[in-house]
Amino acid sequence: FHEFAAPVQDDAGRVIGRIYVYRDITKETELDRMKTEFIATVSHELRTPMTSIKGSLGLVLGGAAGDIPAEARDLLTIARNNTDRLIRLINDILDISRLEAGKMEIRPAPVRVDEAVRRAVQEMAGFARQRAIELKTDVPEGLPRVMADSDRLQQVLDNLLSNAVKFSPKGSEVLVRARAEEGVVRFDVIDHGPGIPPEQTTAIFDRFYQVDNAASRKTGGTGLGLAICRGIVEEHGGRIWVESTVGKGSTFSFTLPVEPPEPEIPLPLNVNA
Ligand code: ADP
Repeated sequence: FHEFAAPVQDDAGRVIGRIYVYRDITKETELDRMKTEFIATVSHELRTPMTSIKGSLGLVLGGAAGDIPAEARDLLTIARNNTDRLIRLINDILDISRLEAGKMEIRPAPVRVDEAVRRAVQEMAGFARQRAIELKTDVPEGLPRVMADSDRLQQVLDNLLSNAVKFSPKGSEVLVRARAEEGVVRFDVIDHGPGIPPEQTTAIFDRFYQVDNAASRKTGGTGLGLAICRGIVEEHGGRIWVESTVGKGSTFSFTLPVEPPEPEIPLPLNVNA
């Protein structure tokens, strides 16, 4: 039950009574749960045939059905790229519904920060080259390892990096930096893109939210990436935020807890003392 109480005042402003409104939310919660379950089921059902289509297209493009004329190859390539996009979208919707249901499984283990960053940069190298963006890293040696689900950490870095590359002007630089701070490692992804107006720096982490500007309209996207990043980082007990200046660029930052120190081995009791 949700309760709401409004005071009733007389002409002199004295409280002479209260109106109580009670709302039964049992049904709403149940509906929410059903919605989440429905989305999860549908996404699963969509993913299987999409994956099969992607596989078949890959085989045909790879020559399994003989030579393909150039025009057919171009069309099949478009089909395959769009299949990839659909699979990414379905996976994002699945992740969001898992996060909202509190059902995303995170298996934290010690992860080396330099390796995670190197992998993410490698993954993005092709896309960066296409857009003539120079990817740089600044990760000092000897950083403590972070407690993270390494696939999920990769997903966060990929998302932030692909946004940075996507929104940056051609020929600019994107920097990934990591630093040890009190009990955490802080990651920064720094770009020189259009920036985000201060009143929207919180909302962009909400699902489906996109800044209404030419850059966002041009690049498409779903507005799910940052909501997923926030969910994953918070599931790890970390924090995520952005600092940005319109016209100058953005720095997306997040923290992850470091590996706990080795427990001290207690000295054996000296029974003879
Ligand atoms: P998508 O990129 O699919 O739209 P995201 O959740 O990743 O979804 O991002 C939400 C919105 O935040 C984007 O549409 C864009 O308006 C803004 N945004 C994200 N990253 C950047 C960035 N590096 N620079 C400027 N704007 C950004």
